[in-house]
Amino acid sequence: MNKKRLKLLYQTIIKEHSQEPLNHGRLENKTGEFELFNPSCGDLISIQYILNDNVISDIQFEGYGCAISIASASIMTDLIKNKTIEDAIELIQLFLELVKDEQDLDTAPLKDAIYLQGVSQFPMRIRCATLPWHALQRGLDD
Ligand code: ZN
Repeated sequence: MNKKRLKLLYQTIIKEHSQEPLNHGRLENKTGEFELFNPSCGDLISIQYILNDNVISDIQFEGYGCAISIASASIMTDLIKNKTIEDAIELIQLFLELVKDEQDLDTAPLKDAIYLQGVSQFPMRIRCATLPWHALQRGLDD
């Protein structure tokens, strides 16, 4: 994908997901939760989920932050819902490599999250984009 098109898709997807985030709000009956703060920007994101055996059967987020952190939480929760823990951990790893601008990744499993790759050109904002993913990773590690 050429850089201009990628930048446009990045801007569009951040705008759409930050204005009308998916899976936003307190999750009733959650079985796990992890909250992370990004001091460099002021984003606070709490990832809440329900584990059913090995499957993340529901996932939502609460908190506040810049458009990038909210859009990333929206995209991430949508992607992770109904995935197994193993699949979720693999997707998190893949996403963290994507925003570091690693080449030759098979990014297809990340679906819309691939457009967040645009953040790799703005090093100050990478922590905003990765915050929700790190929060889920830490939650699943516990
Ligand atoms: Zn931010």
